[in-house]
Amino acid sequence: RTVYVNGEYLPETEAKVSIFDRAFLMGDGVYEVTSVLDGKLIDFDGHAARLARSLKELDMQAPCTTEELLEIHRKLVEINGIEEGMVYLQVTRGAAADRDFVFPDPEEVKPTLVLFTQNKPGLADSPAAKKGIKVISIEDVRWGRRDIKTVQLLYPSMGKMMAKKAGVDDAWMVEDGFVTEGTSNNAYFIKGNKIVTRALSNDILHGITRAAVLRFAAEAQMEVEERNFTIAEAQAADEAFITSASTFVMPVVEIDGAALGDGAPGPRALRLREIYLEESRKAAI
Ligand code: PMP
Repeated sequence: RTVYVNGEYLPETEAKVSIFDRAFLMGDGVYEVTSVLDGKLIDFDGHAARLARSLKELDMQAPCTTEELLEIHRKLVEINGIEEGMVYLQVTRGAAADRDFVFPDPEEVKPTLVLFTQNKPGLADSPAAKKGIKVISIEDVRWGRRDIKTVQLLYPSMGKMMAKKAGVDDAWMVEDGFVTEGTSNNAYFIKGNKIVTRALSNDILHGITRAAVLRFAAEAQMEVEERNFTIAEAQAADEAFITSASTFVMPVVEIDGAALGDGAPGPRALRLREIYLEESRKAAI
């Protein structure tokens, strides 16, 4: 596989980043994951805008322009022959001369930019979407700026491991009694005609897929309510689902051992998935 590191396209075995890179030492980096369908990028503009916001919130320099980023994405997709899959992008504050908590002078230390592709044939026609996923709830102990997409993913990784040990697929995180989000996705339930999901704040990542799905809700003749909700409320709902760039709309069929409805993916979640995929393919670049 060919990867991109700081201006160069290289075989992955030849790509190198310094051990003094601040993402390696301090988690001082941000990332984006953009899906590819039919060899085209889904919602690239949304991901580029969120990247710019993450960089700004952390006082980090942009490594290049959005146009250049688009070109790198496209080139990697083409070189690696990706029809369905993902492009992973990471920007770090760069490699300082030594380990220091203080940010290095941006005049002296340039950001590190790394991109690679992941080939995932069958991403859209996913068997998981036909079965739905099961989740458990866990305490949300992450930091207070979850709206910034940093590479500090240790707790989400631990959450996935807790889910795995419990024999399920993922975990929904709960803070002060209310669901924040999934380990790597936004969380929703459906009751009647209504889609309920937590409102945007610093408590959750502002999902690009979330924004798209809420835009398409009207097309599915559904209403949207952005507010806090509990696990008990979601368990008593008709349906539930998650969204992320890599899972699109994924039905949730069980929460903490309680099956939703008849335990199969709900028709509205599946309809939202269909609309999301159709609209996203149309708008892909
Ligand atoms: N929340 C968290 C914590 C995530 O890691 C992700 C995916 N990176 C999302 C939500 C979904 O965001 P998006 O739809 O932009 O992939």
